[in-house]
Amino acid sequence: MTDDSAKLVAVSEAIDSLCTIEITGRGVVGALAAAARAAQGGALCLRAARELARRVQPGDTVVIATGLPTYPWFCGEQDGPVGAATLARALVLGLAARPVIVTEAIHVDMCRAAVRGAGLYARGVDDALRLPTTVGVVEFPTDPERADREATRLLERLRPKAMIAIERPGANEHGHYHASKGYRLTDHCAKIDGLFARGKAAGVYTVGIGDGGNELGCAVIRDTVVARVPYGAKCQCPCAGSVVPAFVPDHLVIAAISNWGAYGIEAALGLVLERRELVHDRDLDRRVHELCAAAEANNNGPGLLDPGTDAVPTEVHGDFVRLLGFMIQSGIDFGRLYKEPRYPWLRHVEAPSGRSPAQREDIPR
Ligand SMILES: [Zn+2]
Repeated sequence: MTDDSAKLVAVSEAIDSLCTIEITGRGVVGALAAAARAAQGGALCLRAARELARRVQPGDTVVIATGLPTYPWFCGEQDGPVGAATLARALVLGLAARPVIVTEAIHVDMCRAAVRGAGLYARGVDDALRLPTTVGVVEFPTDPERADREATRLLERLRPKAMIAIERPGANEHGHYHASKGYRLTDHCAKIDGLFARGKAAGVYTVGIGDGGNELGCAVIRDTVVARVPYGAKCQCPCAGSVVPAFVPDHLVIAAISNWGAYGIEAALGLVLERRELVHDRDLDRRVHELCAAAEANNNGPGLLDPGTDAVPTEVHGDFVRLLGFMIQSGIDFGRLYKEPRYPWLRHVEAPSGRSPAQREDIPR
């Protein structure tokens, strides 16, 4: 299903709708998603999947940045690392890509655990560039000068074709990083923005996935975040700036939970490549969450290390990927229905026109 058919658009719209339902009760995802769709012509997940499929050839590197230090532990949550791992899996299975996850030192263990949960080896960059089914997980510096040098080194070493930020804080207009409630996180965050800015300037496709307005990529909808999100216009730290990271990516995907944006891109990639298995299943989703939690990733809200994202339990995420998988299968089957009939016994039933469905050319494909 690689054309612009109405069916492809319909399933793509359904993916975006599912990914942006108000599940966490924050009350802002509707406005953020509408703004992102208006600014970019709709089709949030499909657009990202198509660009990835077009640009990433077998053996090419894709950088995935994640990790959001949560107050007061300043250690990350399952939103981000879980989606990074499952999206890495889809990129490996669908495009034979070589994903490399970049994050703070404190998040390296949980990202490695999540990657193993997704059924892939978690290693350093050298192994990730050399071995199949292997994801690189590397520490990126919090010190700005070291981060600058590391950005240059990594871009030369990896020569990525795409860079994806998932639930990733970024520097605002005053150079400060913020939690969604406006607390300052600057000292705890890897300065990954510069890596993305240099990549974009060199022609690398850059995508941000966010759910609250304080994530890298939300500059695309800055005005809406400032107008609609609590602390969006003015943080709670002395910089008194917005919580919106200044870097403007090529594309922004908004979801109710950032992991769901990653899941939505998996689904859209599965639709484009006609491969349902690119959307992971509920068993794998639970395993990724459990291993990530055991590596000290927070389930947000109550601050417990129980498996789940944004205080939504794993069963619900399992239901979510099950729905996505079924939608993709329907989209793929419907596209093929009159090419390779799913129900062969119908070939012999006369259609009202006198021709069998397999012969009818007036039925839209
Ligand atoms: Zn501030």
